[in-house]
Parts: sequence; C-alpha cells; structure tokens
Amino acid sequence: MPGMLYLVPTPIGNLGDISQRCRETLESADFIAAEDTRVTLKLLNHLGIKKSLVSYYEHNKAMKGDKIVDRILAGETCALVSDAGSPAISDPGEDLVKQCAEAGITVCAIPGPCAAITALSISGQSTGRFCFEGFLSTAKKSRREHLDALRGETRTMIFYEAPHKLLSTLADMAEVFGGDRPISLCRELTKLHEEVVRTTLGQAVATYTETPPKGEFVLIVAGAPEVKKETATEGDAAARVAQLMAQGVSRKDAVRQTAAELGLPKNVVYDIALKDPE
Ligand code: SAM
Repeated sequence: MPGMLYLVPTPIGNLGDISQRCRETLESADFIAAEDTRVTLKLLNHLGIKKSLVSYYEHNKAMKGDKIVDRILAGETCALVSDAGSPAISDPGEDLVKQCAEAGITVCAIPGPCAAITALSISGQSTGRFCFEGFLSTAKKSRREHLDALRGETRTMIFYEAPHKLLSTLADMAEVFGGDRPISLCRELTKLHEEVVRTTLGQAVATYTETPPKGEFVLIVAGAPEVKKETATEGDAAARVAQLMAQGVSRKDAVRQTAAELGLPKNVVYDIALKDPE
C-alpha cells in the first residue's frame, strides 16, 4: 500500500495558529519534507515533536521530488511544510503535488494559515471575485509585462512582495493602474506589528518614499471599474481609449483593450479613437 502526502500549513507569524490536526499530522507522519529544515526544526521544538526531516526547496526539488515519491510509494507518509503558510502557494510543493498525483498517490491538504487569504479577508476590498498573482518578477521588463496584462482586470488582485522591492512595485502599479486605484497594504499579519493601510497607489508611493517599508507585505489591489458591456456607447469607448492613452498605453493597445472590455468590434473602437483629438 502506498503512503500519502499531507500538505501541512504552518503559522505565518503567530505560533498559536498551528491547528490540532496539523500537530497530529506532523506527529504521525513517517517523515517531514521541509523548505528549510532549520526553520521547521524550531517549530517542531516548539511543538515538542521529534521527526526525521528532509529538505525540499526550489533548487533541489527536481532531485528530491523523485526520492520523496519513491518513499511514499514504498508505504511511508510524508508531511510537507514550507517556511510559513500553505505549502504549494508561492512556495515549494506545487511540483511535488503534481508528481504525487501522477504516481497515483493520495494528497491531502490540511486547511490553515495562508497570507493571501488572511490579507484579502481584512483588506476591505471586494472579496467576491479575486485573482492571486503571487510575486511579480524582479526583472523590470517582465514585471511591467505582468502588470500590463492586468490593466483590464476587474477582479480584486492579490500580490506577494518583499519589502525591498515594494516601492518600485507600487510605482509601477501606479503607472499602470493609475494613482487613484485603491490598495490595501497588509503588513506583518498575525504578528505584533500587524497593520493594514487602506489607501491609493499614488498615496502609497508617497508614504513609502518617505518611510521605507519594513516587514512582510501582501498587496490587495482593487480591480478596474466594471464597464457594463450592454450599455457601452461611443462616448464610453472614446473615454476609455483616452484614459488608457493618458496612462501611456499606445493607441493600438488602448483600442484592443477597450474593444475587449466593452465587447465592441476593434474596428469600431478604432474609428471612434481616430475621431478623438487625444
Ligand atoms: N505559502 C505562503 C502562504 O500561503 O502564506 C506564502 C509564502 S511566500 C514565499 C512569502 C510571502 O507571503 C511574503 O513575501 C509575503 O508577501 C507573504 N507573507 C507571508 N507571511 C506574511 C505575513 N505575516 N504578513 C504579510 N505577508 C506575509
């Protein structure tokens, strides 16, 4: 009989957030695969659990994944943990889950702390429809491409970001989405200095230019305003093209995006845009 893979979420700050089920799973697993064994050892010491640990992280996952799968197929049960939060969400684990699924191994995800969902819940932004965008690239060009692709996104957007990149990310977001777009910056969640700053992208750039950001952040950015397709008029199309062009989008891209958003044919929007002196 093959064993199983358990995805065990761990606290994102407050050790009290480890659940009874997570404790029991860590205790009963044959071994624990950890992103950083030193970080996990601290948690296990806190919980009074002694268990065999193997490392599984971004740069050894190709090699280690096979070994973990072999052990599970041989009947062992593995608990996967990352440094904090839910494994496989912007954390190692995604590939191991795929490998296990392909090998016919049962995977069980235990619900628990996740920075993205904790932040979304307290953001004060719309939570009905949202998309998780994870980390933006560190390379300026691909970061901009990622954001450009989200210009027309109407769902609330969730981003992870490191403090040293926060300011440049906010500046890029303000350029692409506009300085008046609402954002909630959720910092140090579940920790002593937990803080939620509900503001606009423009104001956030000003604030963090003055006071450099510290700690861990999740950014919850409001989606673009919905434009009702059935009531879209020539005026709506002209206004949206002009708005996008004022944000630095080329006429061609502004026409393409407006046509998609308003459900109008591209050539119709193009004719409207040409009439517009902007
Ligand atoms: N898998 C984890 C989860 O689901 O929560 C996320 C891991 S990802 C490598 C780390 C990022 O999560 C950080 O850069 C930050 O954006 C966010 N994060 C983690 N803990 C946080 C906290 N306590 N407060 C705010 N953001 C946090």
